[in-house]
Amino acid sequence: MRKIVSQFIKTLNGIAFPQVCSCCSNQLYSDDRYICDLCLLERFEPADTSKDEILPEFVDFLFTMWIFDKGGYLQQLMHKLKYEFLKGVGVELGIQLGRSFRQSGIFKNNSVDEKWMIIPVPLHHKKRRKRGYNQARSLAEGFARNTGYTIAEEGLVIRTRYTTTQTGLSTSERSKNVKQAFMVTEPEKLKGIKTIIIDDVYTTGATTFELARIITEITEEKTGIVTVAKA
Ligand SMILES: [Zn+2]
Repeated sequence: MRKIVSQFIKTLNGIAFPQVCSCCSNQLYSDDRYICDLCLLERFEPADTSKDEILPEFVDFLFTMWIFDKGGYLQQLMHKLKYEFLKGVGVELGIQLGRSFRQSGIFKNNSVDEKWMIIPVPLHHKKRRKRGYNQARSLAEGFARNTGYTIAEEGLVIRTRYTTTQTGLSTSERSKNVKQAFMVTEPEKLKGIKTIIIDDVYTTGATTFELARIITEITEEKTGIVTVAKA
């Protein structure tokens, strides 16, 4: 009888708080999960970024996990991540991003002793206040859990220019739009540090390249770029 009652309560809870995948709405079977294994491991096409990208000389590597599916599950998920304050989704995606990154072989020896610092692409403070959080920082949290790297403290790298959406702009317009958009507040903290920039979607690279340019001027080390999706 007790078993039946507890099962009944569980069912009621399930109705009140249905645990479903934030991406595809499949039922989840664990309270601390946000995305199902099908979505995390198999649904999306891996991106091979090493092939066709020409990178600025200050960028060491570009790693993107999946190819963007316009109008599909991944686009919806990225939209939710950006606008719906789904920190748990960001962290879970970040963990998967860290896993894929380590498996990619970009770091052949992947020495855990090396000191890498993760720089989430910062939002302008007005935008951050409006949204409530920075989705790149939640990705960075997951990525850090899986790689052991540290995350740059909030406020070390800031966005000084408020930029409207880049959608619809050409590559050169995007570059112009983000020129001098970032600032490092305490440069001495980045001197000689190896960095990885983290963002949700890689489109033309205008934003991340500009951030990489500013950072590498200080670190005097090339930087890597890691994103969840490639548009
Ligand atoms: Zn799913």
